[in-house]
Amino acid sequence: MAAMVRYIANTLFFVIVLLAILGVACCVFEASVRNETRRFDAEKFKQIGFSDDELSLFCDVAFTGDEIRVRKWTDNIFVEIKNIDEIEPYAVEEVDSIIAILAPLIAPVKIQRVESGGNLHVYRRVERIDPLKPEKYCPRGLARINKTSAYSWDINFAIIFDGCDASSQTLMHEFEHALGLNHPIKLYPYYITIGRSVIPQYFRTMREVQAFRSQPFYLSPQEKTVIRMLYSPEVRPGMHIDHFAARMEMSEDEKEKMIPQIRIPRIIIYPSPDDYFENEKTGKPKARQPKHL
Ligand SMILES: [Zn+2]
Repeated sequence: MAAMVRYIANTLFFVIVLLAILGVACCVFEASVRNETRRFDAEKFKQIGFSDDELSLFCDVAFTGDEIRVRKWTDNIFVEIKNIDEIEPYAVEEVDSIIAILAPLIAPVKIQRVESGGNLHVYRRVERIDPLKPEKYCPRGLARINKTSAYSWDINFAIIFDGCDASSQTLMHEFEHALGLNHPIKLYPYYITIGRSVIPQYFRTMREVQAFRSQPFYLSPQEKTVIRMLYSPEVRPGMHIDHFAARMEMSEDEKEKMIPQIRIPRIIIYPSPDDYFENEKTGKPKARQPKHL
């Protein structure tokens, strides 16, 4: 009996010691992972060369999710068109064109198209995104990236759909989501594909709006710079916006200017193209600024 009690006591002691060691190992590992996200040399980052406007756009679109952290690829990207047998050759060539535009912006990460084994799946010109859910109308586009895990903010898998009626710019927009960019919260006086639901305020005629909507694969210089900033090796996946602001030595005023107030929950309604149609008729400016609800 005594031997049995001693055996149980020893086993319990062993389990407790093992759990304690595991706990400490987890804490050390978590701390090292968090530290890795904080490795950032502001001076090297500034060598990319960017304006205050571009820095502001970067703060707006490159920190995503509830955690407001950077998501990006560190492994090379292999684009696989999953429905390649069902689409016209031009729809494949458009994907190749986007890859050619993005490749120099995301170096040192490489991007190429593959026949199989891809980690970025593309479905082009689809009539419905979820086969189980019939769509009321043809979807424009959708992109999904893998969820974060407890210790990783890397993107290592993405899936992109573009709808049968979508313009070619929609595909570019979805690729930008797949790279880790978010819709902007603020309005900008220049075109940004990732903010494509927004028509720039300086347009005054329908012709300008139509030309804007039919631009194939246009990335403004500011947006290109922002993608290069995100894919700078200085920016680690998981970097938090507050840490970035601190390392960039932003003053409270600069933070106010650069960082959108994403912690305040709100819905933003951007001016829709219909508002601009109405402007044409009445000549009165309408919906000049987004409405914050
Ligand atoms: Zn979008």
